[in-house]
Amino acid sequence: MIFFILFLIALPFLFLYGAYLIYGKNALPAFYYNKVVYHNPISKTEYDKIDSLLSEQLHFFKQLSPEGKAKFIHRLLAFKNQKKFIGKEGCTVTEEMKIVISGAAIQLTFGLDQYLMDNIRGFIIYPSIFFNKMINQRLKGGTPPEGNMQLSWQHVEHGFVYPSDRYNLALHEFAHALKLTITHANDFDFKFYEYLEKWETIGSKEFELMQHGDENFLRKYAAVNMHEFFAVCVEHFFEVPEQFHYNLPNIYYHLCILLNLDPLNKGKDYIVEK
Ligand SMILES: [Zn+2]
Repeated sequence: MIFFILFLIALPFLFLYGAYLIYGKNALPAFYYNKVVYHNPISKTEYDKIDSLLSEQLHFFKQLSPEGKAKFIHRLLAFKNQKKFIGKEGCTVTEEMKIVISGAAIQLTFGLDQYLMDNIRGFIIYPSIFFNKMINQRLKGGTPPEGNMQLSWQHVEHGFVYPSDRYNLALHEFAHALKLTITHANDFDFKFYEYLEKWETIGSKEFELMQHGDENFLRKYAAVNMHEFFAVCVEHFFEVPEQFHYNLPNIYYHLCILLNLDPLNKGKDYIVEK
């Protein structure tokens, strides 16, 4: 009798294991993978809504395997729930805005262990370009060392609607935020921290050439300082990886190591292959 009861208890697991053996890992839909591996307390309807929104808006997400999508959504929910989203100047914050903005953060940090960037407590979202009194300038985005990131929603959207024009405001601002985790967050990614100096040394030769006015594959704005150089490299890395790899292979390669991510390796969840 006891064996029969144990058999009944084990039956669903045996079934899943059987499906895994027969069809391979991809047979398990991302939603159930998300439940089993990450224990996310969301309903199938909610999960599907996020999945279809991300598939529509983020090229990066669309190309992930079911396991990759499950990891992405798990991280996105943890990130989104930890942040405040505040609309200003007539901007009403929607769930779509929260998901797209959080999605940009998760895309950038997909290869890292630490992804919460808790130096950024929230987001102030403006409909379009806004005036920043502190620096007396009109801006599309701004990232303080800690506190609220400021974003123009029009430009966040533009970044994902045109995925290869080399402009992506949200990825740009999160590149600044990621560097600032080292000095201003409770947790930062140790491997990223360890490799950053090496990457900056490799990038600095190109940066100096740009400062002397040499024509470059990277947008001119990269020549402002090494922080902007990194943020502009991140935009090119995700938006035009083939061209980046062709024009600046060394910087591209070391950026792959720094972020533990290779945007050219689309079929394999962007893992870095030696
Ligand atoms: Zn910047």
